[in-house]
Amino acid sequence: MQNERTTAQWRELDAAHHLHPFTDTESLNQQGARVITKADGVFLWDSEGNKILDGMAGLWCVNIGYGRKDLSDVAKRQMDELAYYNTFFKTTHPAVVELSQLLSEVAPKGFSRIFYTNSGSESVDTMIRMVRRYWDVKGQPQKKTLIGRWNGYHGSTIGGASLGGMSYMHEQGDLPIPGIVHVEQPWWYQYGKGMTPDEFGVVAARWVEEKILEVGPDKVAAFVGEPIQGAGGVIIPPSTYWPEVERICRQYDVLLVADEVICGFGRTGEWFGHQLFGFRPDLFTTAKGLSSGYLPIGAVFVGDKVAQGLAEGGDFNHGFTYSGHPVAAAVAHANVKALRDEGIIDRVKNDTGPYMQRRWREAFGGFEHVDDVRGVGLIQAFTLVKNKAKHELFPHWGEVGTICRDIFFRHNLIMRACGDHMVSAPPLVISKAEIDQLIGTAVQCVEECEQVLRERGFV
Ligand SMILES: *Cc1c(COP(=O)(O)O)cnc(C)c1O
Repeated sequence: MQNERTTAQWRELDAAHHLHPFTDTESLNQQGARVITKADGVFLWDSEGNKILDGMAGLWCVNIGYGRKDLSDVAKRQMDELAYYNTFFKTTHPAVVELSQLLSEVAPKGFSRIFYTNSGSESVDTMIRMVRRYWDVKGQPQKKTLIGRWNGYHGSTIGGASLGGMSYMHEQGDLPIPGIVHVEQPWWYQYGKGMTPDEFGVVAARWVEEKILEVGPDKVAAFVGEPIQGAGGVIIPPSTYWPEVERICRQYDVLLVADEVICGFGRTGEWFGHQLFGFRPDLFTTAKGLSSGYLPIGAVFVGDKVAQGLAEGGDFNHGFTYSGHPVAAAVAHANVKALRDEGIIDRVKNDTGPYMQRRWREAFGGFEHVDDVRGVGLIQAFTLVKNKAKHELFPHWGEVGTICRDIFFRHNLIMRACGDHMVSAPPLVISKAEIDQLIGTAVQCVEECEQVLRERGFV
């Protein structure tokens, strides 16, 4: 059925009836969307038969790789057995029980309680309601303000978009909502001039302290950050940043929340990104890699202190029709079990991750207009810059990144431009030969990109 129509027909119908997320509809409809028809391992195929290396694991989510028949079998079996039931009114079902137990096993100690959602945004919104409710129960209802970061990404719902620091999102629809404030991101390359990364990490953490003092410690509910900012362009904070943020949050009795929607489930070589940086959040939000994108599901891991506090408050009036959906839960269970039992996350930590990071730095370190070559596990990036010696960025942020991204697409390699940061986060099952292919193609693309920048007078 999928291939009954031609590419032109799919495009025409898509243009007529489908509104795409984060898209300029008119300009997309002039070009026509790329039609993806199938996928296997780390590769996608489009309707013209092109084989494309997916250097982004979809939207940072297909950790286990495409085409896992065992996951579709689990989905079918669960759908036949119990396609749906809710978990609201004194009811549960085996799929969600099994998943919860498994998740509390793979999580660090002290996260024995899980709340389910359908997406990262819903996990973030759930977390916002949880921390506010927690302080209510604790007799401090004035502790309502959440601190996020500029260029952080926490999703597209009103809560998630408010907490995120994307001003182009805030501009549309009067965001942020009240009670959400932001501090600058720990981006050493741009803000750490004259400092070592470790010195800068402490300085950036102190911005959190300044904001807490400005709002008033008795009014701040939580600080929320991605261990590594993903959609913001793979901003990896110096190693001094998170421990200092944690110390500050403890000092002022502010809850610390990690948004693990990208970092979670092995992306950095650890199960969760906060383990890489050695800090302990009070709650953390997940989605994406939880089901490797096979079905929509998200989860908030609630630390024992907050879980206890919420329990003291009686009813927590929050939940989704599909919280703990049996089919999504069964698939997530099979996915997480495979990530663990097949040693996929161990391999990222000890084998393919270090290999990628070494090859990545060798491949891109020498380009004239590529700088801040960085990464860990299987999340990596570099930044296109006008002048390396001066750490000078291009004047119109994102313009050059888009040019470069389009060159990658033409070479059938998917990488993403976040402004002028070029980022990659392939499926965690990528082999060393596929890493070589990814890097080989990317090097060609960057050569072509620098050529185009010269021809068009950008440099
Ligand atoms: C993708 C993402 C979200 C939003 O997840 P959705 O499933 O798109 O709602 C939230 N936080 C982070 C860190 C993300 O990367």
